[in-house]
Amino acid sequence: MYDLHTHTTASDGTLTPCELADAAVKSGLAGIAITDHDTVAGLDIALEYKKQNNLPIEIIPGIEMNTEYGDEEVHILGYFINYHDSSLINRLSEIKKARYTRARNMVTRLQKMGLSIDFAQVERLAHGDLIARPHIARALMEKGYVFSIKEAFNKYIDRGKPGYVPRYKFLPEEAIALIQKAGGISVLAHPGLIKNQDCITRFINMGIDGLEVFYPEHSNRQINYYLLLCARNNLLITGGSDFHGLEKDKNKGKLGLAGLNYNDMQNIYKHMRRKK
Ligand code: AMP
Ligand code: ZN
Ligand code: FE
Ligand code: FE
Repeated sequence: MYDLHTHTTASDGTLTPCELADAAVKSGLAGIAITDHDTVAGLDIALEYKKQNNLPIEIIPGIEMNTEYGDEEVHILGYFINYHDSSLINRLSEIKKARYTRARNMVTRLQKMGLSIDFAQVERLAHGDLIARPHIARALMEKGYVFSIKEAFNKYIDRGKPGYVPRYKFLPEEAIALIQKAGGISVLAHPGLIKNQDCITRFINMGIDGLEVFYPEHSNRQINYYLLLCARNNLLITGGSDFHGLEKDKNKGKLGLAGLNYNDMQNIYKHMRRKK
């Protein structure tokens, strides 16, 4: 089994890239893709570690880009990207800066509401790397204001809640183009979480290469529907757990909880070979 959706401490996961690689070997997975939010910082570390230790596992370089489409959050996965591509690197470094400013503004808002979290704490939780809202949620949890990440979102930092500050502007078509330019394949992440299902056709028309059909929160009905959509539109099928670490958070998958079997994985490899 291949788990094609995992996060590390480079974004908002709780395992380092090396710990994730070890955990994946221990779970008996044939391969994983590391798909941190808006960063490729964990990839070299994991791949180097695998090489040094001769780990019996494939590690596919990936990314998950958080974009916005209308009033929806849309995540685009990229696989087999050349993560040294300069357009990609430049855009990601802009995004990192914008995320830093946004997190500062969110902390200020929360402080004004009387919650005594501080920015240094959030930075520490983010390991000095890219900051995402789950880091702010963890800070609120550490200080005892909420019991779970979910509660932090529901009360304070979800869209429309008092601590929320919108993200920089980043559109799905830009993410798809960046991934394409970096030689990778683009995949719509967890399509089942998108409220307006009609927009999936739009993403297909924008040139997305695949759909993340297998995902812990997808029902069998959704899985069957997306399989059909892939067959009709000649799209790649992918899957992954969205593993974020060993935190007790029902919203996130266990490593290997969803993924791709050997045959579907071969289709992706075939597609990559045809591109070359
Ligand atoms: P950001 O990109 O900084 O806006 O953070 C988005 C990330 O927060 C997503 O990728 C999820 O991992 C997480 N997230 C978003 N909404 C929720 C929610 N309602 N509950 C828990 N985690 C969430
Ligand atoms: Zn995340
Ligand atoms: Fe996502
Ligand atoms: Fe994810």
